[in-house]
Formats: sequence, C-alpha cells, structure tokens
Amino acid sequence: MDKAKYIWMNGKFVNWDDAQVHVLSHTIHYGNGVIEGTKAYKTDKGYAIFRLNDHTKRLKESAKMTLINIPYSVEELNKAQIQLIKDNGFTGDNVYIRPFAFLGYGVMGVYHVNAPVETVLAAWEWGAYLGEEGMKKGIKLKIVSMTRPANTSNMGKAKATANYLNSQMAKYEAIDCGYDEALLLDDQGYVAEASGASFFMLKEGKLITPPNDNSLESITQKTVIEMAQDLGIEVVRKRISREDVYIADEAFLTGTAAEITPVRNVDARVIGGGARGEVTEKLQSMYFDIVFGRNKKYEHYLTYID
Ligand code: PMP
Repeated sequence: MDKAKYIWMNGKFVNWDDAQVHVLSHTIHYGNGVIEGTKAYKTDKGYAIFRLNDHTKRLKESAKMTLINIPYSVEELNKAQIQLIKDNGFTGDNVYIRPFAFLGYGVMGVYHVNAPVETVLAAWEWGAYLGEEGMKKGIKLKIVSMTRPANTSNMGKAKATANYLNSQMAKYEAIDCGYDEALLLDDQGYVAEASGASFFMLKEGKLITPPNDNSLESITQKTVIEMAQDLGIEVVRKRISREDVYIADEAFLTGTAAEITPVRNVDARVIGGGARGEVTEKLQSMYFDIVFGRNKKYEHYLTYID
C-alpha cells in the first residue's frame, strides 16, 4: 500500500511508521472493532471529502451497536479527518480514509468492558477497488456458498470488523473460482450484498436494490437511489432472488471504494449485453461529476479542505 506521512491516533498525529499496537491487543484475538471507509476527491477547489458527516456518524453508531465507547464526538472526528487530508499533502486524484476503533492492550478474555478503546484515522491514495478495466467493461460476480450471517446471530448493520471474516471467505472463494467479486445471499436465499459493496440491477427500466434487512446501511446506495430518482428512473426496493439476478438487463455494485462498478456476468450468465449497461454508465458518470464537485445540486455532500 501507498504510505502517507501521518496517522491520527487517539487525538494526536503520529508518523505513519509509529502508529503501532501490542500483539496482545484485544481485537486481534476476539475481533470486536468498527471501521469506516470514506473518500476524498480532488476537485477544482482542492480535496473534498464525500458525505463526511454521514460516514463519521455511522462509525459512532457501529461502535454503539458493538459496545465500543469512542471517546470523541462526530465533530471532533470530522475536524481531525480534514486536518489529516491537509497535513498529509496528498497529490493523487482521490484519497481513501479509514476511520476505525478497536480494543487495545491490557485485558484478555471475551468480556471487554475494561479493554482500552483505540481510535484511529488513517488515509492513503488507493486505486480503483475492482480495477480500472472492471470500471469500464464490468466485472464477473459469483454467488458464493456462504450466506451473510443471519440477523439472529450477527449485526450486519454495524460496519464491524467481525463481519469481514464472512466477506473475506466469500471474496476468496469468488476469486479462486475465476470471478472478480462475491455476491452473498441472506439466510433466506435473497441477495444481501457483495463482500464490500451493495447490489443494484435494472429490469424493464426499473432500478431494483434490496432493502437493508441483512446488509450495511450503505451511503453510496442512498446516493445512487437519489441520483436515479433525479434522472426520472423508478427505484424499487425489494427482495431479489438468484433467478432475478440472472435475467437482469443491467447490474452494478456500489460502495465508497467500489464507486459504481458494472457487472457483466453472474455465475456464467451474461448480464444484458455482457458489458457496461447504458443506465449504469449514465449513473457512473453522474456519480463522478458529484464526487469531483461538478454537480452543484449535490455540493452539500462535499466537505472542502482549504
Ligand atoms: N456492504 C459492505 C459489506 C461494505 O463493506 C460496504 C463498503 N463500506 C458497502 C456495503 C457499501 O457501503 P458504502 O456505500 O457506505 O461505502
């Protein structure tokens, strides 16, 4: 990965290489941590962080769900992220920000009430999550053998580190079978989400995406729904079965890192024309206009770094 200069750790900026923890940190052993993935884009007026407040708020809410007490307010964390982008002196097109909180060193055993909470904000330059070629030509998805954990035994709405064991196994299986990304069903057999992104499909002019019954409350998914409605496209939120996916006219994934990534094939079924669909391309280009500050209507989602 591309190193940056500084990382914000528990209220202080430290050099990238000095942001260290002990091997007996609680989260390394028992997996309770929360993360965010936020992105800043280089606009004509300098870097702007997209939907900063929504991401920071979700971090705090994920932490509340998993009983981690982050001792900083949303405002403090927002301010620190702005400073982080400023001080690192980035030059690339975009910067990925990873805010997170985890349990540190000092307590062992599953009961974590006395484990110290570590809060960190890191940022670095990161290329296209599913590859430049995938953004243009579309990717191949595999509906993998594991399902997203049921709501009775996990917390899919928390962006919890623990949820990414399921994501990792899914992604590994997909790639090992020659695909680019995993699509996970829920325990009832309906589409939940990809390993790190949300799922959309187009059928007879309607844009369909599942409700967040068994998936992260995605910020990009919300943005894309708003964009589609602005373009006069009907958006339907309903359960999607495997068969629905196979006969979609277009499909794509959305996420802060995935942005809008077209899907050209699912489980050996060619989607639409087997390339980036027309509506997908329209939404993709609108999304880039928004995040790069070229669409006035959505400027309220940008936090400029001056
Ligand atoms: N689902 C999962 C499991 C994810 O990891 C992500 C990426 N954060 C998403 C969906 C998309 O969420 P967002 O649009 O808020 O980045």
